[in-house]
Amino acid sequence: MKDKYGRPVTSLRISITENCNLNCFYCHNEGCLEGDRRMATQEIAKLVEYATDFGIKKIKFTGGEPLLRDDVENIIEKISQFSLEDISLTTNGTKLAYKAKNLKKAGLDRINISLDTLNEEKYEKITGSPLLDEVKKGIDSAIKAGLTPVKLNTILLKGTNKNEVEDLINFSASRGAILQLIELEKVLPENGAIYKKYHMDLNHIEERIRERAVGVKTRWLMQVRRKYILEGGEEVEIINPMHNSEFCSHCTRLRITSDGYLKPCLMRNDNLVDVLTPLREGNLDEVHNAYKEAIRRREPYY
Ligand code: SAM
Repeated sequence: MKDKYGRPVTSLRISITENCNLNCFYCHNEGCLEGDRRMATQEIAKLVEYATDFGIKKIKFTGGEPLLRDDVENIIEKISQFSLEDISLTTNGTKLAYKAKNLKKAGLDRINISLDTLNEEKYEKITGSPLLDEVKKGIDSAIKAGLTPVKLNTILLKGTNKNEVEDLINFSASRGAILQLIELEKVLPENGAIYKKYHMDLNHIEERIRERAVGVKTRWLMQVRRKYILEGGEEVEIINPMHNSEFCSHCTRLRITSDGYLKPCLMRNDNLVDVLTPLREGNLDEVHNAYKEAIRRREPYY
């Protein structure tokens, strides 16, 4: 289904928990407010099934930390019966070493792993935890399990990790992963001060990467993201959503919050649509209407 701006809605990003075992100081928590409900395994699966009626083909699980849910493999197994093109998940990687094989077995296609630094001290400062080694083990397990392409998500933070870009490119390539350099987003009012202090423009870094690239791929259906191929085969993707109308004009995404609301835009909480209540009441027409209404409420933020 297309929204009123002609944008097809093909991907659904589902937050399956708001709990996390890390405490990254910049985290936008997917733009979700604290909720008082939790979707059950079967409810998540049903919502995915109904979403396919509207042309959703790609599912991404997020959180909080999605691997904190014991039933994550079960959820994936259930939705992998539906006709979907892509099932992926984004994780902080701290629990991945033990889970990668089973996630693949359950039907997960690929994975994104957050990694802002290769420096243990800095990692602890950013996340509040000393688990960098666990994340590295998780990355290796994901590659071994075939959850590919594995993408490493790095938020570039002013005065913090800009000087590590080269090391992160080399590290990613050495593991056979793609590096995604992501601009810090200002999402909730609470992260305004963090944004002011740590936000940096990625243009300069992108320019330097572009100069040495031997190839560029523009992913038109993925918010016009650019992927650069470097001489040694290293792959680097740049994601710069802030004040980027082109990014919004190619957005194909709908979201579900961990407490069961359809969320038309990461940046807003004033246009949510409750989809869990009608699902729990067994009112399937209203579930469908909720999807239609959420798609109707989609608007480019920039
Ligand atoms: N815990 C999981 C993880 O680490 O991937 C899933 C939740 S986390 C909110 C999902 C992604 O959002 C991570 O890659 C994280 O780096 C990114 N993220 C969090 N806060 C952000 C912000 N303010 N701007 C841009 N990206 C952000």
